[in-house]
Amino acid sequence: MMTKEIIEKDLIDLRKAMALIIYGVYEKERIKKENKYPYSPRLKHGMDMFFRLALKYDNSFDLRTAYETAFIRNYAMKPVSEWFENWNAIILSKIKENSYYYLDALVEDTGSNTYHISEATEDYLNLLESDLIAGLDQKIIYEKLIKLDQEDYVKVRKFIIENPIADLKDLRKFKMGKSDLVVEIINSAYEGFDYGHYVCPRCGWTIKEINGIYKCQNQDCTKSNFSFEKLELIEEYNDKLRLKRGVMKYIADPGKLELEIFNYCKEKKVDCFLWPDMDSFDILLEFKNGKKWAVDAKAVKQPEALRESIANDYIFPEVVKNHDKSFYVIPDSYYDERKDYLTVINRTLNILYGENYSERVECIRLKDLKSLIRKEI
Ligand SMILES: [Zn+2]
Repeated sequence: MMTKEIIEKDLIDLRKAMALIIYGVYEKERIKKENKYPYSPRLKHGMDMFFRLALKYDNSFDLRTAYETAFIRNYAMKPVSEWFENWNAIILSKIKENSYYYLDALVEDTGSNTYHISEATEDYLNLLESDLIAGLDQKIIYEKLIKLDQEDYVKVRKFIIENPIADLKDLRKFKMGKSDLVVEIINSAYEGFDYGHYVCPRCGWTIKEINGIYKCQNQDCTKSNFSFEKLELIEEYNDKLRLKRGVMKYIADPGKLELEIFNYCKEKKVDCFLWPDMDSFDILLEFKNGKKWAVDAKAVKQPEALRESIANDYIFPEVVKNHDKSFYVIPDSYYDERKDYLTVINRTLNILYGENYSERVECIRLKDLKSLIRKEI
């Protein structure tokens, strides 16, 4: 019997299984780098939950393939939607409401039985609000940041965004006279690196040639195919530190969008404030006509992932109530890649906010925001 209650419960288990599996493959790759036997109890636990559900809902599932190497080959290396191809239609229609369903393959085959976790996997992990994923570099930094007072919070976050690579002497100067917590955050956000790194022309972090490809923190950079002549080798790498990759990818790189909006407002002489009220949103705009706008910059590539994060955001509804207009702003290029991006999000916002407030909140592109600002001044 498949009652509604049982399906609901299984969907919750499936969501948990997916989180465990995704964290598990991430964890395995990490352990592998430390040259230890890559065993992940989380992956094991997640797979067991998944197999139990597959046995129940997938007629084509073969229990003899319920072990790790088969799982990696049959599932982890394929887009997640393919995992569910033969599942019962009733639960499948519900599964499609979850962003994990739209994830690309969790791991990429790098040949000879080795694999790397994909960027989509990392993005999903970063958005998961779960105790499962304590220990990601960016989460550790974020948890420390929110313990700072407002003034230090803005200073430290801005410094991190503006300095993907920093000179030791600038780091010393920045830490001088600051609280122990600021010093601790800076020390744990940065790391050393070795010879052979270049400055990435797109994001300012480090890139290095691996098997003929210049690899950066982000696929958008790696895919840019920079011409070698334009690259600048970091000769004095002993005198510099760089942000840890997770901090660069999930705090500093998206932060560029926040700073671009902030700097545009300054240029247009609109009063603006970064991360007001301890980061309840990204930028507050105060116009001369008295209107107040709240802006949350969202460098999230996949609209389904942003939709889930919006649905779990308990702070923004308060923000919407207290401002004349509130916006989720995405980079123009994300819209170019997914023309239905704004429709997907705005449909969700209409449902979440209902008649009373949906007029006040909208998801738009950076260039739309700029033109709305110009009209308001
Ligand atoms: Zn880059």
